[in-house]
Amino acid sequence: MATPNDLFALQKTDTALFTLRAKLHEIQRDLQEPDDLVSTKAVIQKLTEALATTGAKVKDSELQVGTLQDKLNRSTEHLYSGKIKNPKELEDLESEVKSLTGRVETVELELMEHIETQENLKSDLETNQIMLQELEEDWDGKSSELRTEQQRVALEMKQIIEKRKPQADKIDASILANYVKLLKSKSGVGISKLSGSQCEGCKISMDGGTVRQVNSNKWVNCPNCGRYLIRG
Ligand SMILES: [Zn+2]
Repeated sequence: MATPNDLFALQKTDTALFTLRAKLHEIQRDLQEPDDLVSTKAVIQKLTEALATTGAKVKDSELQVGTLQDKLNRSTEHLYSGKIKNPKELEDLESEVKSLTGRVETVELELMEHIETQENLKSDLETNQIMLQELEEDWDGKSSELRTEQQRVALEMKQIIEKRKPQADKIDASILANYVKLLKSKSGVGISKLSGSQCEGCKISMDGGTVRQVNSNKWVNCPNCGRYLIRG
């Protein structure tokens, strides 16, 4: 026949289990990547995308410059070939050369702007990649420590769960069920010590009859908080 002392032993095990479970939750929370690492990755992603867009613009401008330059070369050559005698034709060609020269200059300017943007993006990307590497190295160290701790706590929990089984089996089923209910409703404490005549769980004093029952190791519930009582 189990006594309140047996239930108290189970409570000690459960309290240890709760502590370990909380510890495990804490580790799981800490195992999330830190904000600075997440934000640096996001910045790198954005810079990489911007660099791809700018790279495409550079290529496009280079092609345009090439095409326009070819056209300009051909028109200039044609203009000074001496083959054109018609003044109107000459005038049209001169104006085309002038217009092409202007367009080449404009596209070249655009190209230079894109190249400048590209250089700035490359430099920003490099800075952030260096930063990311440092953050990742730091995080690798920390997270590996956390995972080791996680394994240790999980193993300890497993051992305690194994130890709990025979302790729980000892207790009468109805008392055990009531105790488990109390654990849920009374902040993880289903059995309290009686300190003098006071329940340590709710700080309320018991009458003499209740105290005597507790003293003689009977199964008694605190009339106020409902927890089982044991002589402290
Ligand atoms: Zn109480």
